[in-house]
Amino acid sequence: MDGFSMDLPAGARFVLERLTGAGFAAYVVGGCVRDAMRGDAPKDYDVCTSALPEETKRVFSDCRTVDTGLVHGTVTVIARGEPYEVTTFRVDGAYADHRHPDRVDFVRQVERDLARRDFTVNAMAYNPWQGLCDPFGGRADLRAGCIRCVGEPARRFSEDALRILRALRFAATNAFAIEAETARAARALAPDLAHVARERVTAELCKLLCGRAAGAVVRAFPDVLAQALPAPLCAEGLDAVPPEVALRLAHALHAAPDPGAALAALRLPKRTERAVRELIAHFGAPRPETPAQARRLLREIGPERAAELARLRAWPPGALEEALARGDAYSIPQLAITGADLAAAGIPAGPGVGRLLRALLDGVVEGEIANERAALLCAAQHWNLQEEESCR
Ligand code: ATP
Ligand code: MG
Repeated sequence: MDGFSMDLPAGARFVLERLTGAGFAAYVVGGCVRDAMRGDAPKDYDVCTSALPEETKRVFSDCRTVDTGLVHGTVTVIARGEPYEVTTFRVDGAYADHRHPDRVDFVRQVERDLARRDFTVNAMAYNPWQGLCDPFGGRADLRAGCIRCVGEPARRFSEDALRILRALRFAATNAFAIEAETARAARALAPDLAHVARERVTAELCKLLCGRAAGAVVRAFPDVLAQALPAPLCAEGLDAVPPEVALRLAHALHAAPDPGAALAALRLPKRTERAVRELIAHFGAPRPETPAQARRLLREIGPERAAELARLRAWPPGALEEALARGDAYSIPQLAITGADLAAAGIPAGPGVGRLLRALLDGVVEGEIANERAALLCAAQHWNLQEEESCR
């Protein structure tokens, strides 16, 4: 198996050893094998086994287990304090809705389990005794940087249309090419994405847009992406934007005719949606050059959004960071004076107080009044007198 070996964390090793010791076949599988083979640290280790869920629970009767998805064969085992999803080898039955198999059947051979997986690079299994199990040439495709369906692409995509977007996602995150037949089938079957639950589509799309080669995928597959997000996406400069969902989405959508509608269709968490909207609204804002410009921007969108905008637009550090470092005031609570101070100074309570505070903030933001108690009181009294005059 020309010497592929994986460093497994103690928990994963323990799970494999226990299952194997009890007479079952067991492997780590999928994303962790792919990532380790590329030299990336796996995020988590999934285990597949010939043991049925009840058998797995028996093997780990002295460990904490969670019935994560017994009908799909998944038991989570807590080993050395880490959770491991242990799933019985299975094959999927017919797909009626382009997303969910009508049933799953448990099988005893790892190759059959690997055959139901989406791409060759995701269809490898490993254990320290048998080494790598790679019946579909995943290792060669990984070396070549190629996303290829296991089996016939058109069939695999019509079973589960989400795989179409996953193909684009892996191409974007790994800077891989999509094999020709797989790409053709992805284009042909993209309309089936309409059958897939919105949150699954959005999740894949967000990972795709955060990929280091997202720009190339957006350029190569506008027709497929239009099924996931009905707006023209901007590929130019996308890969240079820091890989944060809100920033990448704001860049991708900033030139769309109705970015708000496209965003609403994604049904993102409210916080994220709001961030993207505000970033798009300020996309063309000039970089603040003076302290007053920096404070104006901070007053308008707050420090968190301003920092995001700076990252999105790759502004070099300058007036904005300096204003924050000095602790410049850009909001009413930061003024060195309160409504109560104004009342104590004889300014009558009422809407005039709020107006006065806003006018004082304007003066501070513009650099016309120092944010000091005495200066603010003096200006307030001056304005209040003027207001009285004008009422007469
Ligand atoms: P990530 O790094 O995003 O977690 P992953 O490859 O681990 O990537 P998961 O969604 O966690 O992706 O899925 C785990 C494994 O399950 C995949 O590697 C693949 O073998 C298989 N898989 C996931 N989704 C599908 C699908 N829709 N169709 C077929 N196989 C799938
Ligand atoms: Mg995973």
